[in-house]
Amino acid sequence: MIADLRDLYQEVIVDHSRRPRNFGPLPEASHQAEGFNPLCGDRLTLRLKVVDGVIEDARFEGAGCAISTASASLMTEALKGHSASEAEALFGEFHQLLTGESKASSALGKLEVLAGVREFPSRIKCATLAWHTLRAALQAENRPVTTE
Ligand code: ZN
Repeated sequence: MIADLRDLYQEVIVDHSRRPRNFGPLPEASHQAEGFNPLCGDRLTLRLKVVDGVIEDARFEGAGCAISTASASLMTEALKGHSASEAEALFGEFHQLLTGESKASSALGKLEVLAGVREFPSRIKCATLAWHTLRAALQAENRPVTTE
């Protein structure tokens, strides 16, 4: 069973890294930030359209490893319709999942497929890059962020 689940998770990650969702420009973006993970070389630009405190759209561009691309793809899917504070809470749960501090929570949904990253600590920054960039975008910090 556990092996089957791992295969399924792996399939979702491969699918999202090869065909990332919400990949491309977002001309009507209200917020944006750039992220860089020097450990792996992952780079991305995240753009958000926030209306009345709700993230209506999220898109990203850039180049990175399979984990960072899949994570950004899954994150942009998960964000839509949520407020900035809800997105921040989701990041908290996601980070706990990756660092093994908590088991999966129902709020995470499909983001759970990245739980396996906890076995590869050097890849955690690949999986969290998009989220750190999200935080920077929401705080409207117009400087590049790094996971270092
Ligand atoms: Zn990476």
